[in-house]
Amino acid sequence: MRYISTRGQAPALNFEDVLLTGLASDGGLYVPENLPRFTQEEIASWAGLPYHELAFRVMRPFVAGSIPDADFKKILEETYAVFAHSSVAPLRQLNGNEWVLELFHGPTLAFKDFALQLLGRLLDYVLAKRGERVVIIGATSGDTGSAAIEGCRKCDNVDIFILHPHNRVSDVQRRQMTTIFGDNIHNIAVEGNFDDCQEMVKNSFADQSFLKGTRLVAVNSINWARIMAQIVYYFHASLQLGGPARSVSFSVPTGNFGDIFAGYLARNMGLPINQLIVATNRNDILHRFMSGNQYVKETLYATLSPSMDIMVSSNFERLLFDMHGRNGATLAGLMDSFKQGGGFSVDEERWTETRKLFDSLAVSDAETCETIADVFAKTGEVLDPHTAIGVKAARACRRSLDTPMVILGTAHPVKFPEAVEKAGVGKALELPAHLSDLFERDERCTVLPNDLKAIQAFVSQHGNRGKPL
Ligand SMILES: *Cc1c(COP(=O)(O)O)cnc(C)c1O
Repeated sequence: MRYISTRGQAPALNFEDVLLTGLASDGGLYVPENLPRFTQEEIASWAGLPYHELAFRVMRPFVAGSIPDADFKKILEETYAVFAHSSVAPLRQLNGNEWVLELFHGPTLAFKDFALQLLGRLLDYVLAKRGERVVIIGATSGDTGSAAIEGCRKCDNVDIFILHPHNRVSDVQRRQMTTIFGDNIHNIAVEGNFDDCQEMVKNSFADQSFLKGTRLVAVNSINWARIMAQIVYYFHASLQLGGPARSVSFSVPTGNFGDIFAGYLARNMGLPINQLIVATNRNDILHRFMSGNQYVKETLYATLSPSMDIMVSSNFERLLFDMHGRNGATLAGLMDSFKQGGGFSVDEERWTETRKLFDSLAVSDAETCETIADVFAKTGEVLDPHTAIGVKAARACRRSLDTPMVILGTAHPVKFPEAVEKAGVGKALELPAHLSDLFERDERCTVLPNDLKAIQAFVSQHGNRGKPL
């Protein structure tokens, strides 16, 4: 499989190189040159497969030519064995024909484990083969950091540095990162905010001289392998609800547009999907596009669903690429004008076509709490605030009651106690067994000033299993 850039100028890469790259050299994002397409009979024949075997069938075409089948099977079996639920991604019924797909049974209790557990293993496999080491530098406002650290903790060939804003992530989220020890794991608390952290990561990609030749890899959702891993659970959910003979709809709590883009790809690979609902919080750039064809940056607000607090959704560029007939030059122009002027609209015809599949809703903090309270009162289930936004949007945007509606359950409520408390749910939430002693564990973290040179000096001092590069 070959991968091309959304801006048309960077060289095409194979899977192995795309795995080890962040942004394409022309500033674009990599996407498959040709998407695999499965027949209905083929998809139907996968019903009842264990998760890792389904994952093998769905993802095999994407790694073709880079990873032999037997090795890929083994990697997938190990990856999904760490999930705490036997079905890996169980469906829980909320209401008539309304389901939550629980994607929070991985080590860090958020859906990001599905991709980052795989990414860590794929990196180590490819690097061992090449006899190389890499450095990962990532910024997190919460869920990505812990999932990336858990995914890479056992990697022999990866040193990972995660920057989080000092004193600005929740206790659970911080401890999920800082209580994992290893000479290749480095937590940095930056005396700044999340944007400062992200800016320093970006600048580190732009000038890599401090790495002395060691390769730098991205773990945010611009990395293609993360999107690829998320396609699988759309097939998994559909097959349990009568697919592919029956069409299914999905409502997806959305920030960077990675998770829902995977659903869009599943549909283009042959899975019958009736409706994809973009569920956002007050940071609603995607809702404003879907409802009014305006893609315009606005102020960033802090909400009760912090993992969706974004101004701009980086993966949206991948959808725009398809919307414009996969024309890299057009996309480069569009993204350029966005950067200059802060906004754009697309041709009415293209927008109308997109809206045949996508609906959207922006949900306030108050509505998020109301939804948590309502679902708890009726079912006894406690939703996390991100999932609650998905439920609210599903109920508001649903086109057909006959089509099963699946809401992606993106995090475990115990990660976001503030929202659950505000919703007035009087049920004590317990950490799952593997994290029950989280608050007794020692922490390890280095506090550094909000200064690029200080961060880079730290990385070059510790980037080789804690020793200098
Ligand atoms: C990352 C995250 C999201 C947003 O996913 P995107 O792929 O960025 O759209 C939603 N909910 C939770 C809990 C997350 O951690």
